[in-house]
Amino acid sequence: MFQGILIDKDEAGYQATVETIDESRLPDGEVTVKVAFSTLNYKDALAITGRSPVVRRFPMVPGIDFSGTVVDSRHPAWQPGDQVVLNGWGVGETHWGGLAETARVKGDWLIRLPASLTARQAMAIGTAGYTAMLCVMAIEKHGIKPADGEILVTGANGGVGSIATALLTKLGYAVVASTGRVTESAYLHSLGARTIIDRNELSQPGKPLGKERWAGVIDTVGSHTLANACAATRYGGAVAACGLAGGMDLPATVAPFILRGVTLYGIDSVMAPLSLRQQAWERLERDLDIEKLEAVATEIPLGQALTYAEKLLEGQVRGRLVVRVHSED
Ligand code: NDP
Repeated sequence: MFQGILIDKDEAGYQATVETIDESRLPDGEVTVKVAFSTLNYKDALAITGRSPVVRRFPMVPGIDFSGTVVDSRHPAWQPGDQVVLNGWGVGETHWGGLAETARVKGDWLIRLPASLTARQAMAIGTAGYTAMLCVMAIEKHGIKPADGEILVTGANGGVGSIATALLTKLGYAVVASTGRVTESAYLHSLGARTIIDRNELSQPGKPLGKERWAGVIDTVGSHTLANACAATRYGGAVAACGLAGGMDLPATVAPFILRGVTLYGIDSVMAPLSLRQQAWERLERDLDIEKLEAVATEIPLGQALTYAEKLLEGQVRGRLVVRVHSED
């Protein structure tokens, strides 16, 4: 038996509760993992509250990521005692996830815990941090250098935004952080943001083209914010779009793309190939300031994940929520 969050949908409605679960109910998979830490990502909050149809099968253990120790394996790459990390692959959506003390998954979904990180640090980074790294890598691959100008990060107080700000700063870029919580300016400056702007400047319908400002953009918000970010990206610049915290729509024109050669990169962490994941985690080990990571992370016990899911969607959470799943780890 193990403790975990279980989401179910029946005549009584959509409910997420902390329950004691029998191991016989675990899904198929070659590797069984004792989960040490998980996190609360935006998608987990949507799953727990039922605000969006993230969960595709019921009952479901949410949690799109976890770190932990292999306890049993029928996969050649993994032995009991190995420390592992998992991000995405539909875990917490179609396959039971990390917000429970035990997980059973495909061996091919796991990566080794980076040598210089603890299981807790890996989840302070979590899917949000790994996605932030994928966005930074897209900006770099495009050839944008620190000397090219400012990089806009939207939803800067959130998990992806906070870690993107810290990473870009360490790499020498000048970050302009867009936020609805300018009261958190000191926090954003401590991560390295040079300038803070109110997200209202970007969230209203704008013109097809604006004054050229951004050398690059990491956008976690979508909708008008993404459209306005594209419209103010400099000639030949790039926008890495990964999120929809402000909306799923994209009310934009093609003008930035066909008149300024702006490139829009779509960033997906869930099905990203293994080689790209490994590269992203290696880069996180190297380029993320661990002191800043500690400042970004707040730890909560499994039992509080339900209440924090609501807070996260109300925009009341700063940085990353790390969920301590096994209390002794
Ligand atoms: P968080 O909830 O931690 O952060 C989201 C931030 O967006 C908030 O902190 C807030 O920042 C801002 N925000 C919230 N609501 C609005 C709104 N209505 N309008 C404008 N801004 C808003 O989430 P994450 O950082 O974990 O994820 C961010 C986004 O990225 C989510 O949409 C998530 O689904 C997506 N994502 C996508 C992945 C992928 O693979 N493509 C992987 C991981 C995340 P502030 O207070 O600073 O304004």
